[in-house]
Amino acid sequence: MADTTGAAPQVRYEMPAPHVARIVMARPEAHNAQGLQMTYELNAAFDRAAHDDDVKVVILAADGRNFSAGHDLSGDGSKTWRDFETVGTWAGFDAAGAEARYGREMEIYLEMCERWRALSKPTIAQVQGKCIAGGLMLAWVCDLIIASEDASFKDPVIDFGICGVEFFNHPWELGIRKAKEFLFTADEISAQEAASCGMVNRVVPRAELEAVTLALAEKIAKKPAFALKATKQAVNHVQDVQGRRNAQMHAFSLHHLLHAHNELIYGMAMDPNGLPEAVRDKVLARVARAKAAKAG
Ligand code: ZN
Repeated sequence: MADTTGAAPQVRYEMPAPHVARIVMARPEAHNAQGLQMTYELNAAFDRAAHDDDVKVVILAADGRNFSAGHDLSGDGSKTWRDFETVGTWAGFDAAGAEARYGREMEIYLEMCERWRALSKPTIAQVQGKCIAGGLMLAWVCDLIIASEDASFKDPVIDFGICGVEFFNHPWELGIRKAKEFLFTADEISAQEAASCGMVNRVVPRAELEAVTLALAEKIAKKPAFALKATKQAVNHVQDVQGRRNAQMHAFSLHHLLHAHNELIYGMAMDPNGLPEAVRDKVLARVARAKAAKAG
């Protein structure tokens, strides 16, 4: 049970080939922005793939022009965390002070990403168009990334007074110097540039993206299932013994220091001066609504 609210699904589950599951973010009208509903639907879909003995490889794809615009800064409408079954033990998204945001981001960003990264079957992100901020986290948790020529990647959160998205994998994805440039400038990098850093496996024409990704998944799906699982775990463990998790926890703490700093200075978790115009009004309206609800 991923969602008890009865809203239209935001994630689709397909079996496009034998032993290959495809999980599709199906919210193109919002550029696949990720709110609570999509998060828990993605988690349910990953669980379904993990539990199905017939599935050996999982593709994460997205409908529409863009892979993902990141976290849905316009909020979750009337839904709260209590409408979903949490997967971790960090409840209390509505606690007082800094505890609320820390618990929320621990559950729906950090622990959720860890969970998906550790899925016991190979995963492939199929990325087209924009992949921004929280969208990076969705691609990064996958084992392989296939991008179309029109794909681009960007983490702009420094403009909002934050030090990188919650699942702080930038140094492992891009290398130390490129990660710093990527974060300091908030500049977009192309699929080709991401490939040259080792973040993307292959760059293909947009028209061929789905077919190339599926062919790769089918090729991998011919290998022995347990050997695939063990190989994935062995490679992931290399990053873990390098201290990935410890470094991420440090970055997550700094991330929350900056959220708390922004609350003190601006009365909200982000510096509104750096928000793109398209979302600034939505964010300010959501903060005003939350304040009014608390006061009332
Ligand atoms: Zn955050």
